[in-house]
This record gives sequence, structure tokens and C-alpha cells, in this order.
Amino acid sequence: MKIKMAFFGALAGGAGVVGLYFGLGINWISLAIVGGVTLLSYIGAHFTATTGFGEFMRGWLIGLNAGLNGSLGVIVYSLLLGPAGVAVGAALGVLNFVTVFPVISRSEVFQGFLGWLCLLQPMSYLVAGLGLFFYLANLILHPVALITRTQYLRILGMRVDWKTGTFFQRGGLFSNMNPIDTAYNMGNFSFVDKAPGPWHIEHEAGHTLNLATFGSLFHLVGAIDENLTGGGANAFAERLAESNNPSTTQSNIIAMWT
Ligand SMILES: [Zn+2]
Repeated sequence: MKIKMAFFGALAGGAGVVGLYFGLGINWISLAIVGGVTLLSYIGAHFTATTGFGEFMRGWLIGLNAGLNGSLGVIVYSLLLGPAGVAVGAALGVLNFVTVFPVISRSEVFQGFLGWLCLLQPMSYLVAGLGLFFYLANLILHPVALITRTQYLRILGMRVDWKTGTFFQRGGLFSNMNPIDTAYNMGNFSFVDKAPGPWHIEHEAGHTLNLATFGSLFHLVGAIDENLTGGGANAFAERLAESNNPSTTQSNIIAMWT
């Protein structure tokens, strides 16, 4: 990890979002700019990961998302909580920003806060919200599976990674829809195929930490990188998530979470 480069990147990313916010406000143009910049930044980070520039880009992506979580958090939580919401939004932005420091990001205690508070980060709402929908839909369909003896809809097991607040289901409609029959993560909800195999708890929990740090668009681009454009385990988001697995055998992880 090249801490200085990542830190400068995070400062630049955070400043960029604040500048955009005061320059353009929050509207479709500024959202489109943020979306386009995140996509290009992911691609840049993917191809240069672990170099000085790659570390700057990783930091930049953290800073961008921290700025977004902070500014959107202030707006959302002010509406819900009044003036106290400003402090909540700012705290969510700071929680996101400090992941740029490895001594903090690798702390299991810190990861507890980051994982559970992922649910409150505005930039996580999209993916974690869909995950919650998948999770509840699986639960609702489970009795149907029992009555109709439909194995495809049946939940075979549930586990929780308490450290990161990630809830796992094995089996059920949305778990089995995964074409590669393994596991996938939707923030604080993860889905494991009914086919025999490991649960990939640590790796999938790494994606929860990724979502809290890099946001929903990064999460979706990472999924495309892994599954559609040939990145596989070498996709940037995968190399980060796998670093939460202490018994990994992958040689090119980006050591953010352990
Ligand atoms: Zn993964």
C-alpha cells in the first residue's frame, strides 16, 4: 500500500465532490458526472492497481464516495433528524474517508462499525436495498417451496457474519439465480447457491466493506468486471474483497482489509 499516494487521491476525490456540490448542486447533471467519473476511475484503478498511480486512484475513489456519503448523508438525515442529522451525515463521510489509512481499515473493530453502518451510507442504499428485497423475497417464497416441494425456492441455511453485519442465505430463488452457482454479495446481504460448496463468508463480507467504502456504482461495475469483461478473480473489486479472507490463496490481493 502506498499510503501517501492514496491519501492525496482521497483528498482530491473529496474536494472534487465538494466542488461539484457547491458548483452545480445535486441534479441529474452532477449525478451523471459523478457516475461517469466513477466508471472511468474504476477502469483506471483496475489497470494500474498497486502502482503509485493505482493507489492514487484507489484513494480518489474512496474520497469521491466519502464526499458523496457525507453530503447526501447530511441532506437525508437532516430531513429525518433535524440538526442532529448534520452530525450523522458528516460522521458517515468521515467513517468512509478514514478507510484510506490501512492501520484503520485493517482493524477488526473498525470493520465492525464500517460493515454495520454500511446500511446507513446513502451510496449503499441501492445495492443494500436490493439485497434486502432479495433476502425478504427468499424468506417469503420458502413456505411455498415447502408446500410445493420446489427445491429451487427452498432456503437451505442461514448464517451471519457478525463482524460486518452481513446476512447469508444458502438456497432460495435469488441465491440460485446466480449463473455460476457460487455466492454473491449485495452489501449486508449475501446469497449462496444451493449447489454444494463453501459459503465464501470472508470474501463476501469483504464486499460489504467495499460497498461501505466505494459505493453502489463501484459495486455494480465490479460485478461487470468480474463476470462480463473477463476480470474474474483479478477484477479490482475482487482483489479488494478477497483481502478480507485471512486464509486466501490468491497472490494478487490488494491488502486493504487484512
Ligand atoms: Zn467477489
